[in-house]
Amino acid sequence: MSTAALITLGCKVNQYDTQAMQELLLRNGYTIVAENDPVDVYIINTCTVTNVADQKARQVIRRAIRKNPDANVLVTGCYAESDRQAIEQIPGVSLVFGNREKADLQKYLDLLHESVPENSASSLLQIKPVHHDAIREHANFGASVSEAGKHTRALIKVQDGCSAFCTYCIIPYVRGRMTSRPLPDIVREAKQISANGYKEIVITGVHLGAYGLDIRRQTTIADILESIHPIDGIERIRFSSIEPMNFPDDLVDRMAALPKCMPHFHLPLQAGSDKILRQMRRRYTTERYMRLVEKLRASFSDVGITTDVMVGFPGETDADFEESLRFVEEIGFSQLHVFRYSPRRGTPAADCPDQVPPHVSAQRSKVMIALGKRLGLEFRQSMLGKTADVLVEDSQEGKAQHLAGFTGNYLRVLLDLPDSAINQILPAKLVGIEHEFMTAEVAA
Ligand code: SF4
Repeated sequence: MSTAALITLGCKVNQYDTQAMQELLLRNGYTIVAENDPVDVYIINTCTVTNVADQKARQVIRRAIRKNPDANVLVTGCYAESDRQAIEQIPGVSLVFGNREKADLQKYLDLLHESVPENSASSLLQIKPVHHDAIREHANFGASVSEAGKHTRALIKVQDGCSAFCTYCIIPYVRGRMTSRPLPDIVREAKQISANGYKEIVITGVHLGAYGLDIRRQTTIADILESIHPIDGIERIRFSSIEPMNFPDDLVDRMAALPKCMPHFHLPLQAGSDKILRQMRRRYTTERYMRLVEKLRASFSDVGITTDVMVGFPGETDADFEESLRFVEEIGFSQLHVFRYSPRRGTPAADCPDQVPPHVSAQRSKVMIALGKRLGLEFRQSMLGKTADVLVEDSQEGKAQHLAGFTGNYLRVLLDLPDSAINQILPAKLVGIEHEFMTAEVAA
């Protein structure tokens, strides 16, 4: 029996795609093993959002080849789209295929079987990938994925690609234009997720709010929520991340009327300076962003607002950065992901003459991270003493005595409970703070 290991880098959309590929491997009789076990086939699903992500992808590929030099190493994902050559040059890589070729994995697996002569332990593939255009027609959305490794929280990908072309972002080039998945397919998958015992659905996509813009009889993201909300067994629904420019008041109102929609929103801000937002071509202002946050706060109690902030975008002056800091503080995010800008070849921002020197963006990153930590702590402090429903997931983060779970507003909570509590939603009193976690006691 052949063994396969899958390694995923990057975002939730990639996690979803990996799971779809894993299910295909299982259907083909593969046993899924860990990266360091003896492996016949690696599937490495890469990310290219920054040059650090590219570097990490190359490291992971090399590490896999070192561990199992006779394995077939198949590399896919966004880095495979953006710099196929760099990957093909790594000795030991068998095949590189892009995001839009993930749908053709079955074909590659068939070729793999054909190309391995009997009794050969070291046959490497020589597969010529099909051209992108040939497969663009049938994007593979695959099946549901458990994010936590247990049957608690599942991802559903409802759209892929992006047509927004923010000036720094490589994603429209590597994931292609927006493609929305038909609503009946999504509902069918949500029912399957519920039948498999999951309690929470995370709706995911590259540019979620733009869902439906490419469909003739337009369906919206609110229609998805309203269609899956009545499914028995699903008790929580949330978005992985939704761009602020595609979050109209009507969507907030329709979500607020659905009790299964959780009060947590990840709204990528990127910059708190209108000048920089314009140069990023982000299509919202700080004022509009603030109005959205106020509307969410008025519609959901104890809402958690998390975000991504980019520092060191070309042309960002000290004054622009200070403005961003003030805006981030004013919003009071419950969590901040800070990225240093890195030029992506082929994007307009990469050609801007006034690139920010690395030592300056490194310093800004430190300052922004420190602010994010303080704001996160303040949010956790504001929740002390309150009771919140926690979906108990598993004992992660090496804290063996504890089970961990998430509140509706996406606070990570530790609970001292037996394993039988996993996949239950329990009311818990938030009694303490332990680093980025809160500790809680199940309420009587
Ligand atoms: S909305 Fe902008 S940042 Fe997000 S994927 Fe599309 S181009 Fe990239």
